[in-house]
Amino acid sequence: MCKMKFLQILRKAAASQNRSRVSSISANSGLFARQVHSQPFQPGASFGIAFDIDGVILRGDTPIGGSPEALKRLYDDSGTLKIPYVFLTNGGGVPESKRANELSKLLNVHILPSQVIQGHSPFKQLVKRFENELVIAVGKGEPAVVMSEYGFKNVLSIDEYASYFEHIDPLRQYKNWTKQQASYKKKSSREMTGRDDPCSQRVKAVFIVSDSVDWSRDIQVLCDIMSTGGLPGTEISRQPPLYFANDDLSYQGLFPTERLGMGAFRIALESIYNRIYPNALEYISYGKPNPFVFKHAENILMQLVGSSISNQINGQYPLKTLYMIGDNPLVDIDGARQAGHHWFSILTRSGVFKGKENHPWYPADLVVDTVEEAVDYILRKEAISI
Ligand SMILES: [Mg+2]
Repeated sequence: MCKMKFLQILRKAAASQNRSRVSSISANSGLFARQVHSQPFQPGASFGIAFDIDGVILRGDTPIGGSPEALKRLYDDSGTLKIPYVFLTNGGGVPESKRANELSKLLNVHILPSQVIQGHSPFKQLVKRFENELVIAVGKGEPAVVMSEYGFKNVLSIDEYASYFEHIDPLRQYKNWTKQQASYKKKSSREMTGRDDPCSQRVKAVFIVSDSVDWSRDIQVLCDIMSTGGLPGTEISRQPPLYFANDDLSYQGLFPTERLGMGAFRIALESIYNRIYPNALEYISYGKPNPFVFKHAENILMQLVGSSISNQINGQYPLKTLYMIGDNPLVDIDGARQAGHHWFSILTRSGVFKGKENHPWYPADLVVDTVEEAVDYILRKEAISI
């Protein structure tokens, strides 16, 4: 699809998401109020911090850049949170509650599920639209569990969905990781009858929750779903909606150089689809640098300090400065810049960015080596000694 059309769709989606967000926040205000009462912040705390995870806090599962020490400074001696912060990552594949537990163990601090904003977190805003419809969840980890926890009631992982269609992946016999799919198939013949059969139900939406594990199978099956209006093996029909949790071309993993990310998978799928089918692939990508996710982080940070949206409207902005600490100029720094002047971007040299000076095209407000240096700078600037 042309870039203009994509931007239009993106803006339209962001506008409607913002509307639904306001209602979901008010519905949960009681819960947030309880959380806030249990977390007495310093009076007058007027800033919040958003941390990227990969390349800033962790590399793989290993803490880097003094991250446990840096985070510890945001709590008092009894382990109570003093400075509002969230994790704002494009990564994902597991529910926020599970990721919060994992991070708490790795970093030795107590992290709430609400403090973990992943690439796919905005998908929960689409529950009302697709609650009972058949939707497909793609990616590593537990993509269908993530979507079920958000409230989607008829969701299948692409692994399970593909297993119901014989010969949909002609290379399957050469792949030695398909044992799980065999067990899905057994379940299918035993439990599925008539209208429950996913092969006869139209897929109403596809969500790329995390990185595709099997590009060749996923690109094939997604082309089948997208080109047929959600009924693989049938004639060409209108494309169902397609959502990506992020559009990162690459990311810094454990290997010395960057790895291909979800954005690379999107380019592969889009290029192939557009060469074969008459209508260009349409999709919406969330995740950083989309300003929408920075707004979401801002809302969560405000909820953490017990501020309401009405405060913002009355001109008494409760969080004067929001700090984004990230390692990727295109994603973290450009995103913070687009999100508004109250965002202050700090680029670390502990991941994707390794330059001596600032990034030439997406310069940060500050460049440091590690997250520990970044937190030290923030606490000194805000005159907070902990
Ligand atoms: Mg990163």
